[in-house]
Amino acid sequence: MMADSLVGDLDKSRASEQLRSGVERLVEDEDLAIAFQPIVDLQDNRCLGVEALARFPDPFSRPDHTLATAERFGLSLELERLAVRKAWEVIPLLGEQQFVAVNVSPHVLVELARRANQKEGLPLSQVVVEVTEHAAVESYTSLHRQLDPLRKAGLRLAVDDAGAGYASLRHVLELRPDFIKVDRSLIDGIAFDHARRVAVSGFLSLALDLGSTVVAEGVERPADLEAVRDLGLHAVQGYLIAKPSTDLDKVVRWLGPPAVHPMTVPAHDRPLARRGRSRRLARQR
Ligand code: C2E
Ligand code: CA
Ligand code: CA
Repeated sequence: MMADSLVGDLDKSRASEQLRSGVERLVEDEDLAIAFQPIVDLQDNRCLGVEALARFPDPFSRPDHTLATAERFGLSLELERLAVRKAWEVIPLLGEQQFVAVNVSPHVLVELARRANQKEGLPLSQVVVEVTEHAAVESYTSLHRQLDPLRKAGLRLAVDDAGAGYASLRHVLELRPDFIKVDRSLIDGIAFDHARRVAVSGFLSLALDLGSTVVAEGVERPADLEAVRDLGLHAVQGYLIAKPSTDLDKVVRWLGPPAVHPMTVPAHDRPLARRGRSRRLARQR
């Protein structure tokens, strides 16, 4: 039995070593791509910007798991920095008012902000930093110290996954973000659930008070799109509008004017493009 347990321990430590060297190779070879997903204004169908999502080769196909593994091995700063640097490449494709939203964990954010404060000429007004609500912020004071100069220079902040856990309200109150991204767990099925609508309305009234823009994440159903539109949310993101893509030609089309390049809502049901147009016409009448 003891021999079995020793072999088990050895297997575990070998697997962990392999995982570590796999993540190290990702960093060394810069082996990641960035998929972009549009965030669309519900008033006029304009693409406000795109969220950058890291894509790693097998067996690292789940970015959240890969980043958590990298964190376990003390490699998350390198990996997240690499993802931000690659995401940066979309900036020349953006319109003046559009942004690229990058995901960073709070401790990496402090480090990246410290470095950004030492650099000049960064196109900060075209960058949104998404801080996940899953991650605890150790010190809001030091986060503010690093972020405030950058925010004054145009950097915008989003609280990601709002409503997915207890920390989101604290993040929102402490950080006063420019964007509140309501988690898919609150959006999925919102059309059929009064309680979800009440919860999301709560975020919306707080957001209106703070002057933040509210984005519904993970919209898959036309009925949920209608529900968030009716509640008065500002913007949407989700498979119904477009799945994340690494194809930059597609990204350029998304970033173009909506009349020319409507989002790829399924052809049998294009509520966003159609209703947007009819509402605009109704307003003009
Ligand atoms: P997230 O930041 O909440 O990103 C949204 C996730 O929802 C993405 O998963 C996206 O592909 C997925 N998604 C978008 N629309 C829909 C939809 O309509 N339905 C469903 N079911 N899912 C939708 P993805 O790309 O697998 O990323 C998972 C998580 O990994 C992200 O969640 C984020 O927390 C993390 N992540 C991804 N890239 C990065 C990165 O470069 N840096 C950091 N720190 N985290 C990242
Ligand atoms: Ca995000
Ligand atoms: Ca999210």
